[in-house]
Amino acid sequence: MGIIKTDIFKRERVWFNVNLSTPESVKGLLKHRKQLDLKFGRKFNDVNLSTTEVDLAHQTDEVTCLYIWIDEILDRMNITKRQKDLLDRFINSSSELEIAMEDGQSVQNINRIINTICKNISGEALRDWRKWVYKEKLGMRTKNCSKCKSELPATIEFFRARKNSCGDGFYNQCKKCERDAKCAEK
Ligand SMILES: [Zn+2]
Repeated sequence: MGIIKTDIFKRERVWFNVNLSTPESVKGLLKHRKQLDLKFGRKFNDVNLSTTEVDLAHQTDEVTCLYIWIDEILDRMNITKRQKDLLDRFINSSSELEIAMEDGQSVQNINRIINTICKNISGEALRDWRKWVYKEKLGMRTKNCSKCKSELPATIEFFRARKNSCGDGFYNQCKKCERDAKCAEK
């Protein structure tokens, strides 16, 4: 697990071996997201950027791929309007404290919402990774979910095991669909 750490005074800029395996690394990536957007979305001459910020924007392709992956995950995550609004502001360099003050809420509450989003992104990334390794690398047996129709590895990470082990030993809906259905009931 790599780290994302930037300190303009110590000139620290560690962007190596970063992945989405922990909510903390996802949060770090989101916090520095604006620099990448500036790199691709605007001309540096147009805005007042310090040298450090320009430096920061020169990340590796690996990090760029992670941002693309995060975007792709967010697209399919069904986040609420409130979560999206909060996330947009967080990415646009508002601190948790600033957001809390704007919204008249506690910092803990804002932190909790952002941390939940990061945890869900990280969980979804782990699911993607497992899906790929089990199927493509290990050639494990797969099963189609009866609800989302996704072809997923036939393992307990993706399907709940039946107690009486009839059929192929797993329920027909994937765990994610079962979880979504449960959330919808609430
Ligand atoms: Zn499913």
